[in-house]
Amino acid sequence: MTEQNNRHIPIVDLDAQYRSIKNEIDAAIASVVERSAYIGGTFVEQFEADFGKAVGAKHCVGVGNGTDALFIALKALGIGAGDEVIVPANSFIATAEVVTAVGANVVFADVREDDYCIDPKDVEKKVTQRTKAVIPVHLYGQPAPMDEIMAIAHNHNLFVIEDAAQAHLATYKGRKVGSIGTVACFSFYPGKNLGAYGDGGAIVTNDEAIASRCRMFANHGRAKGEKYDHEIEGYNSRLDGIQAAVLSMKLKHLSNWTAQRRNVAKKYTEMLCGIPELTLPKNFPDRECVYHLYVIRCKKRDALRRHLKEKGVEAGVHYPIGLPFLGAYKRLGHTEKDFPNTARLQREILSLPIYPELSETDQEYISASVRGFYLTR
Ligand SMILES: *Cc1c(COP(=O)(O)O)cnc(C)c1O
Repeated sequence: MTEQNNRHIPIVDLDAQYRSIKNEIDAAIASVVERSAYIGGTFVEQFEADFGKAVGAKHCVGVGNGTDALFIALKALGIGAGDEVIVPANSFIATAEVVTAVGANVVFADVREDDYCIDPKDVEKKVTQRTKAVIPVHLYGQPAPMDEIMAIAHNHNLFVIEDAAQAHLATYKGRKVGSIGTVACFSFYPGKNLGAYGDGGAIVTNDEAIASRCRMFANHGRAKGEKYDHEIEGYNSRLDGIQAAVLSMKLKHLSNWTAQRRNVAKKYTEMLCGIPELTLPKNFPDRECVYHLYVIRCKKRDALRRHLKEKGVEAGVHYPIGLPFLGAYKRLGHTEKDFPNTARLQREILSLPIYPELSETDQEYISASVRGFYLTR
């Protein structure tokens, strides 16, 4: 059954990217080390300026990772005990974890079947007197329905915290995600569309007061420029100099890489069309997805995933267990009936390999392997 096969196609190939920019990266890292600019300093300031500009936000605060970005944003908005925050049922756990971390209560909303993002109708149903914020996630690089979310937020006086960890440079009605809500959070985890060589994250906002509260909180509550004058009790979460230098350099390539990801997605859609067992990602004319992941929905998902593995193709599931169904949220007592779309998706979704450097030959091989699976069954 297991045929001899030397091919291995990973779900993401960080090494291929490094090889394509090795000289620039090595020089960027060396320049930080030569100047001992490890914490704070010019490399961090430069990246904050570059990234804020790239996403169309006035202020950018570099932090230790994407989870901290969300945690610090919630803190800076004064969200805590007794408050409720609405998050999508299908996301990475960080989106929900941070709500508990600030002492507030997580409230899940189901996702939609067409774009897999948070369902505004369910958000509306979950709003109570205690709701303070909603965290739409631009999942897999697809912008969440921001007009609807912003309208609900406006009517109920809620903060909107965009979780843009998977959606650097994605646009919604011509606007970059990250510039639409009250505040937005990005992750630079190595596998993200803009990835550091370690952990990294950023908070962006057009609101100066929120930006300065985030900055102060993330740096031990320090009053500006005073090392041992702490105005509040804060936290330590900083983007370091080496990561900032790597990110500034990689940011120059990001629109090219994004175009390449879109091209890979387009080719998959051409190569995989007409297979009745598959549902391919939908295109929305008013949104430009950045395809952090290329997620298909399929019949016999687990068997297809095993078949691909035998062919040397790594595929992933994002995410195999909806957040409300995790052991971590057992206390909320949810069942699959509460989030029918999330429950269905977790059994059907499969993420195919996607990265800017993925070759057309490899893509053809992957697509033929998928097609072969359904032909023989
Ligand atoms: C990656 C990710 C995060 C967390 O980012 P880290 O940098 O890993 O802490 C948060 N939300 C979503 C949707 C993510 O994909």
